[in-house]
Amino acid sequence: MASKSSLRPHRLRAFVNGRDQALATTAGAGTRARHLIDPTNNTPHSFYESTTPIEIRDALQVSSDAQRKWKLEAPAIRSRILRQAADIILQNEEHLSNLETLDTGRPIRETQFDVHDGAECLYYYSGVANTLGGSSYEMPGGSLAYTIREPLGVTVGIGAWNYPLQSALWKSAPALAFGNSIVFKPSEFTPSTALWLGQCYKEAGLPDGLFNVILGAKDVGAELVQSDLVSKVSFTGSAESGRKVYEMAASGMKKVTMELGGKSPLIIFSDSDLDNAVSGAMLANWYSSGQVCSNGTRVFVHDSIADDFVDRLVKRTKKLRIGDPTNVTTDIGPMCHREQYQKVLDYVRLGQEEGATLLYGGKEVDKSKLPDTLRDGLFLTPAIFTECNDNMRIVKEEVFGMLMTILTFSDEEEVIARANKTRFGLGAGVFTSDIQRGHRVVSRLEAGCTWINTYNVAPVQLPWGGMKGSGIGRENGEGAIESWTQLKSVYCEMNDVETDYVQ
Ligand code: NAD
Repeated sequence: MASKSSLRPHRLRAFVNGRDQALATTAGAGTRARHLIDPTNNTPHSFYESTTPIEIRDALQVSSDAQRKWKLEAPAIRSRILRQAADIILQNEEHLSNLETLDTGRPIRETQFDVHDGAECLYYYSGVANTLGGSSYEMPGGSLAYTIREPLGVTVGIGAWNYPLQSALWKSAPALAFGNSIVFKPSEFTPSTALWLGQCYKEAGLPDGLFNVILGAKDVGAELVQSDLVSKVSFTGSAESGRKVYEMAASGMKKVTMELGGKSPLIIFSDSDLDNAVSGAMLANWYSSGQVCSNGTRVFVHDSIADDFVDRLVKRTKKLRIGDPTNVTTDIGPMCHREQYQKVLDYVRLGQEEGATLLYGGKEVDKSKLPDTLRDGLFLTPAIFTECNDNMRIVKEEVFGMLMTILTFSDEEEVIARANKTRFGLGAGVFTSDIQRGHRVVSRLEAGCTWINTYNVAPVQLPWGGMKGSGIGRENGEGAIESWTQLKSVYCEMNDVETDYVQ
């Protein structure tokens, strides 16, 4: 286990079969070397070499060998190990949240929350592991018909860069609880906490080879997905990459979970508690510098309250504390990496070209307002666009940064139709004080995760995932049982075999 003082990792190594992998080169300057950038100052803090195809094959073989024994292990043992891992995570909260903040740039308050959320996920599946089972059915003559829930085998998890620890835990906790092994590939931008998790599982008593972490970008991910040893792929990332991964998995008839992007609607009716609605819109757009898949970036506000809503929103957005993410009072850290930072600025320019009004923000933070140590950081001010229409690209395309588009509406039917007019279907929110309207509207919104009078709350008990172009399958809650197991049917005849054939 890494000590609290060893916060800054330098050379990272893949974690396979319960140990750090040997290095292919000693200099670290090989062609597969990649540097990790601290987004607060845009300088490298660690580096690693991508896992090679031969090492990937070895990792999958080790994983397969380990899984054959693990699937026979008593659920109570699996449960105890997961619970132990959750305890270790909580004991290392400070180290782990700092590591996550170093990789992602997300404020420490958020990454501390993720540590607790991750532990909750382990505790939850520790409980479910003991309850998993099939069903039995009454048959004629006392014969038996029943189902068995079986693990899938060797599974693969591929994560995005915004919530690396959460992604590694939302996939590995149910995978391991139900008797699978997993080879996880974190995002090439943010692999540190997944590697830490490998050590944590080992310390918790997980047998070697069941949780492995390999390093690299999409070529490494593709190599994993295409292996014959793999029976399931759980992918978190963009819709574009998801389509390619889905195609590769389909050609090998592999089970998939696809957790993809979105462009979610947040609808604010005129009877809403306005301060709560503003809080909801801020959470739905500014949290994690807007780098959240389910963000409610299309904010539909009833035209009778739009001016008041926008006034309050701008006033509170101006008060956000942007800066050092390791400071507990910071609300907004830097963007995670330079490409994403530039992408947001490009969309801000596009929005203006399309004719929307940039009411606030959307700029690099004034360097003179930042301490010297942060002057090269990837800091942006949140962008609020008004005068938007449904056909603008800033309204239709996922930006994955702090770019809120405000649209007005006058009628419930109208806003439902407009909210659903998207290829995505991950999240959707409604603010209203009319409880019947709240339920009526969410029941008609085409999204996998919906909220009434809040936004982006995702307890582990509730299945997580998207409809339409936002994905397939569910993580968390009972949704994960379907995602990480398969059913076997058994018919046991208790009498002579009935047949018309002559003896
Ligand atoms: P990305 O698609 O570029 O990469 C995601 C992961 O997939 C990375 O690990 C990457 O190396 C790997 N990858 C990319 N192409 C691949 C390929 N062809 N084969 C195998 N692996 C491949 O996404 P990103 O930029 O890292 O993350 C941002 C996206 O993720 C956004 O669209 C966001 O909405 C989405 N996201 C979705 C959820 C969810 O739960 N639905 C959660 C977080 C992020």
